[in-house]
Amino acid sequence: MALVVIGGVAAGLSAAARARRIDPRLEIVVLEKGPVISYGACGLPYFVEGRVREVTDLITYTPEYFRKERNIDVRTGARVMAISHPRREVVLESGAKVAYEKLIIATGARGGLPDLPGAQLPHVFTLHTLDDAARMRRFLVERRPRSAVVIGAGYIGVEAADALRRNGLRVTILERSAHALLRPDDGFTLAVRAQLERHGVELRTGVPVMAIEPGRVAGVPADLVVMAAGFQPNVELAAAAGIEIGRSGAIRTDERMETNLRGVYAAGDCAEVIHLVTGRPTWIPLGTTANKAGRVAGACAAGARERFAGIVGTSIVSVFGMGFATTGFSAAEARAEGFTPVAARIEARSRPRYYEGVKTTVELVADSVTRRLVGGSVIGEDGAAGRINVIATALHARMRVDEFEQLDLAYSPPFTPVWDPILIAAQQLIKEMGA
Ligand code: FAD
Repeated sequence: MALVVIGGVAAGLSAAARARRIDPRLEIVVLEKGPVISYGACGLPYFVEGRVREVTDLITYTPEYFRKERNIDVRTGARVMAISHPRREVVLESGAKVAYEKLIIATGARGGLPDLPGAQLPHVFTLHTLDDAARMRRFLVERRPRSAVVIGAGYIGVEAADALRRNGLRVTILERSAHALLRPDDGFTLAVRAQLERHGVELRTGVPVMAIEPGRVAGVPADLVVMAAGFQPNVELAAAAGIEIGRSGAIRTDERMETNLRGVYAAGDCAEVIHLVTGRPTWIPLGTTANKAGRVAGACAAGARERFAGIVGTSIVSVFGMGFATTGFSAAEARAEGFTPVAARIEARSRPRYYEGVKTTVELVADSVTRRLVGGSVIGEDGAAGRINVIATALHARMRVDEFEQLDLAYSPPFTPVWDPILIAAQQLIKEMGA
């Protein structure tokens, strides 16, 4: 009896590889409906841009590699249509059945707005798979579109806009909500908008798109349209098998990534994880989480006892070379989660003035009752990833702002100023909260 994994990208393959390490003799089968496995979707915008030359450069491993080097049976073109847990088997589109003892669901998420009128027109794209990116790149090269509309200002939309603008298109992003990059924070959105406009991309917020017409969307000219909205977890298979779906709409799991059905695990973009700031389940689909949670699911399914601690929701996006990084909650989100937030935003240099430091903006958010940090953001061309990672570490460690302000961080002019911007932000926050 085998360990069967549904889905052959980040979470599924991390799970399979980890299970193999734990148990060298276990029979492991990975079922992937698509034609390829193990690719970095995160690199798709850079292929559309032209920076990555071949779409196949984004593939890390092949099924042959897994078969030969890991003794894992990876089958492509194998779409699972149903899970029968009472029979411990999955049913493929071909009608074939594959028996399992343990099952890992790593079916990911999907984007796009398939029900939007016009969504099926030939100049309308999603950007989720290698095939999507290859189609979009081909359209760019062969049809030479001059204008593009991107629907959705999440990170995929913003990265797509950046890539299209670098190909010379006039680009407009239409976003239904009032904010960019899914961060309910006016200052952050203002900075994203300013950086986009500096590079010739227009961001219109508060614009719900009702239809795509040939050549235009909501009155904006569009030879090419990217649907970068409507992201949702692929949970239908799981739900039909009686697996519990959480309030976020993703599969409910415990800290071993096990679902309510014993022996059935879920990980990656289809599953919830615990948010360490609130202690409650959340759905924040990211590659980092998919890899880590997948490893835990694989280990546990193979008989080890491991746990996935949870996440704090850390991410970073490049908008024309400027890093926009966030972790935890903005003040508005923290309030909605039941905290009493106080926020401080500062601007400082990334390095000393005499060493070509550039402007960095840091915001820290703490709960005024406990003084615990609950979120932060960093905007800058230089060092944004390192700085947000320090703040993320503080959230993991449940640090209070007073402890954070004392952190012993590195200083040398080529890298940082003597007072790092995140420490200046902490000092400002302490001032605002009162000692
Ligand atoms: P997926 O990668 O979606 O894989 C799921 C697989 O399951 C798919 O191959 C699918 O075909 C297969 N499947 C689904 N249903 C079935 C079925 N019934 N039978 C068989 N197979 C099935 N994350 C970051 O952390 N940083 C980034 O910078 C970043 N950039 C991104 C940029 C883009 C354009 C995109 C699209 C995503 C980006 N991500 C990023 C997110 C990251 O790629 C995902 O979080 C990650 O791929 C999730 O992995 P997964 O294995 O859970 O799901």
